[in-house]
Amino acid sequence: MTEKQVGVGMYNLNEKDEIWGFNRRWTIFSNIIWVNISERLVSLLGPVAKRQIYEVGYSSGKLAGERIRPHFGGGIDQYKQHVGLTSAMGWGNPEIKNYNEDTGEIVVEYPNLWEAEGFSELHPDEKSESPTCIMAAGLAAGAAEGAMDVPYEAEEILCVSKGDPVCKFILTPAGKEKKVMK
Ligand SMILES: [Zn+2]
Repeated sequence: MTEKQVGVGMYNLNEKDEIWGFNRRWTIFSNIIWVNISERLVSLLGPVAKRQIYEVGYSSGKLAGERIRPHFGGGIDQYKQHVGLTSAMGWGNPEIKNYNEDTGEIVVEYPNLWEAEGFSELHPDEKSESPTCIMAAGLAAGAAEGAMDVPYEAEEILCVSKGDPVCKFILTPAGKEKKVMK
């Protein structure tokens, strides 16, 4: 492990030991806590819970994208910057594999996404039958809308929790019908 600091310059601890950055307070949780909450909701409510968790991510990603737009200017360049910011926040080492200017499709991969690592911590030696990175998918699509100014939909087509080498998200400008997450 290197001596790299998390979110260098983005966060400060105030006199009350609160973490502040971007004019908001932040809290550090372990990956496993979120995955535990998410799994319990999904086990009770199924796809409805998945879609709601996705929407939590989406609305947050969109808001963040809108907030940074005055600084980064929108478009695919902003999306790249936004993904870079989340990397500095410890979410993983994302790589934008492709952007199709004609269709607006963005392909992004994470070898070590926090949500997948939470799954493996909660279930050592187990593989999930379906992708687990629901919140991250929503965040990615919301950040895309925040940058590109059109609604996006994310689909996770590979997931480390399933045994794939990376979590791979396809982000496409959304149609009217929202996909049901399975
Ligand atoms: Zn995943």
